[in-house]
Amino acid sequence: MKTNRPPLPIDSESTMTLSSIRLPGIDVNRPLIIAGPCSAESEKQVIDTATALATKGIKIFRAGIWKPRTKPGGFEGIGIDGLKWLRKVKVETGLYTATEVATAKHVTEALRYGIDILWTGARTTANPFAMQEIADALVGVDIPILVKNPVSPDLDLWTGAIQRLYNAGIRRIAAVHRGFSAFDKKVYRNVPQWHIPIELRRQIPAMSILCDPSHIGGKRELIAPIAQQAMDLNFDGLMIESHCNPDSALSDAAQQITPHALGLLLDSLIIRNPGRETENLLNLRKQIDSIDSELLELLARRMDISSEIGRYKKEHNMPVFQEKRYGELLEKRVLQAEEMGMSHRFIRSLLVAIHEESVRLQIDIINQ
Ligand code: PEP
Ligand code: MN
Repeated sequence: MKTNRPPLPIDSESTMTLSSIRLPGIDVNRPLIIAGPCSAESEKQVIDTATALATKGIKIFRAGIWKPRTKPGGFEGIGIDGLKWLRKVKVETGLYTATEVATAKHVTEALRYGIDILWTGARTTANPFAMQEIADALVGVDIPILVKNPVSPDLDLWTGAIQRLYNAGIRRIAAVHRGFSAFDKKVYRNVPQWHIPIELRRQIPAMSILCDPSHIGGKRELIAPIAQQAMDLNFDGLMIESHCNPDSALSDAAQQITPHALGLLLDSLIIRNPGRETENLLNLRKQIDSIDSELLELLARRMDISSEIGRYKKEHNMPVFQEKRYGELLEKRVLQAEEMGMSHRFIRSLLVAIHEESVRLQIDIINQ
């Protein structure tokens, strides 16, 4: 859709003013849980799953209507009929409904059928044309929208998709971490790379981030530990695939759990309390702050001495890098650090980084 409106000023990520995606009646003190099948398959499957989930305290029901399959030949979604089933879910169970959109037409249809929350899938977030089309279709609409991370571990692509929606006037935006594709799949279907959503949180502190352990794990037994890890990392909620008969699911069968299993999983989650900053914790943080500045001062002193050594080497026409000295130094320090209870791997990588910087300084001096 072509719009003639002037471009909105682009706020930097950290100044985005976002509103909560929580809908009326959803407990703000608990993680936000969205659950439901990967795909809507039949009216019975949708209603049975939603009814069972409602008894487990779920308030938001998800189901894919249009399914972007990586390869042709898979189940590509039931289409508009499924939206009618979702509307029925709302009427019969009172659950809010959520579905995936990938085109402007999907947006229009989903809105027509009263869907409460939209999300963009990983393959769509990765496509700026599609994201812009969705953003244009949402101008003037106030609906929560969740942006799953792009398939590749590219944070700018993720924040770029979020900005396109923001610039279209959408304020109820949250992100969903569903892991990143890897050529060589080992444990996970999509590798979590937790540092990426953590960096997203740093860049857009006002935005909620949910975790989708089903698509990260790809298998039922991984869902609980990944969900717990997300809670430990202070994620705001979870999107979990649940199906009344997972083994017969037409898509993502291996990663769906029954509403009963989901209820047990949610009961077993340990929810941390991020708000409790006791005096003790504040004191410990102050200690860390002061130790960090001592560490920086020590490092700066070490670099000064390194530069002085560089000047000496230049004067005496000596090489910068003396392998024997470096090898001995590294071994000695690693042993010393291990005796102090620090890991071999950590201390070695730290020392290598410090040494690299010293060598760089000395080479600069020699070349002056
Ligand atoms: C889904 O939620 O079913 C889905 C297709 O997810 P993703 O876009 O994360 O692969
Ligand atoms: Mn799925």
